[in-house]
Amino acid sequence: MNILVINCGSSSLKYQLIDMNEERVLAKGLVERIGIEGSKIKHKTTGKDEVVVQEPMSNHKKALELVLNALIDENHGAIKSMDEIGAVGHRVVHGGEKFAHSVVLDEEVMDALNECIELAPLHNPPNIMGIEACRELMPSTPMVGVFDTAFHQTIPSKNYIYALPYEYYEKYGVRRYGFHGTSHKYVSLMTAEMLDKNTDDLKIVTCHLGNGSSICAVDGGESVDTSMGFTPLEGLAMGTRTGDMDPAIVPFIMEKENLSIEEMNNVLNKKSGVLGISGISSDFRDIEDACKEGNERAQLSLDVFTNRVKKYIGAYTALMGGIDALVFTAGIGENSIEIRETVCEGLEYLGVELDKEKNKVRGKEAIVNKDGGKVKILVIPTNEELMIARDTLELVSK
Ligand code: AMP
Repeated sequence: MNILVINCGSSSLKYQLIDMNEERVLAKGLVERIGIEGSKIKHKTTGKDEVVVQEPMSNHKKALELVLNALIDENHGAIKSMDEIGAVGHRVVHGGEKFAHSVVLDEEVMDALNECIELAPLHNPPNIMGIEACRELMPSTPMVGVFDTAFHQTIPSKNYIYALPYEYYEKYGVRRYGFHGTSHKYVSLMTAEMLDKNTDDLKIVTCHLGNGSSICAVDGGESVDTSMGFTPLEGLAMGTRTGDMDPAIVPFIMEKENLSIEEMNNVLNKKSGVLGISGISSDFRDIEDACKEGNERAQLSLDVFTNRVKKYIGAYTALMGGIDALVFTAGIGENSIEIRETVCEGLEYLGVELDKEKNKVRGKEAIVNKDGGKVKILVIPTNEELMIARDTLELVSK
């Protein structure tokens, strides 16, 4: 069966068409600037040249219509007709406490998704728009929702409850949800496969280090804690997000700088992290280049980032009572040799011993600990699309 995987942002749409018989990508692409002047699709069918379709796309439905046309196009398409798409898997950011697993999307689920909007006002509405557009264009094709939060629903309450008045949890659902669940799940399953072990027997710390970054403690195949929280702002310092800090700083800065709630939110989410500290960029490649030129604030931002990754690895090792495998994934985790090296430095006492030669890999699966090292260290390119397609296939085959 061919499965179309859709990941809708507010003005973008990423897609992949995957042949699940061989788990092979048939085509993939990115739509940008939906609803803005200059909309375009970059489409690539495996084995053919990339094409760019430039056409006005006032909404997600129009964008999706053009994506479907690109997929069945005689010259640059991957399939002959839409009938060859057996099901669609949608990435949904927030499933709240309602969804601990992926689900087939029906009216009842759509109502529940709408109720989760309050928890993810920036992310869920475009996800829902994508689903609705798809349902209109492909009314008889089954669809599945795969949630970023679902994998973390196994986290015990002692790790998800904030030390706030309990009524805020009861009234507003204020608790840790965690994100990047599909990625943490994928790399933890891959870890077991690469080590030829059962996930039940492994204590894994997975480091998803990208534009947004989070760490997860995976014990016996289940997420038991993760660094992102009620929103994707908590935890590690990121490209532009603060991560952990004293909450009292928020009212202090608001008062000093006379900022509104919206402006403060913008500072915390868009102007902080390595961008905020370095004043240079949110892109870790720029930060690493600036460090090499001796830029001290760039170096400081990188040190803040790597130190916090290290602290979480230590914390999660303590929480699980040990660690068998440490995994690096996402843009930075898969590609930055230096950041992996810095993070592992000083963790030898835990049994984390990186082999600097083996670590010289980018963007491919590798086991990079020293021979005989107690803790296995792995680099695993994440594949959220495949994970979504696998869940979709499983649900629609039932
Ligand atoms: P993602 O959100 O997973 O796409 O990751 C994006 C981040 O990965 C950006 O901050 C990039 O700078 C970073 N990244 C990508 N390639 C490299 C690289 N070769 N070295 C360091 N960082 C990289």
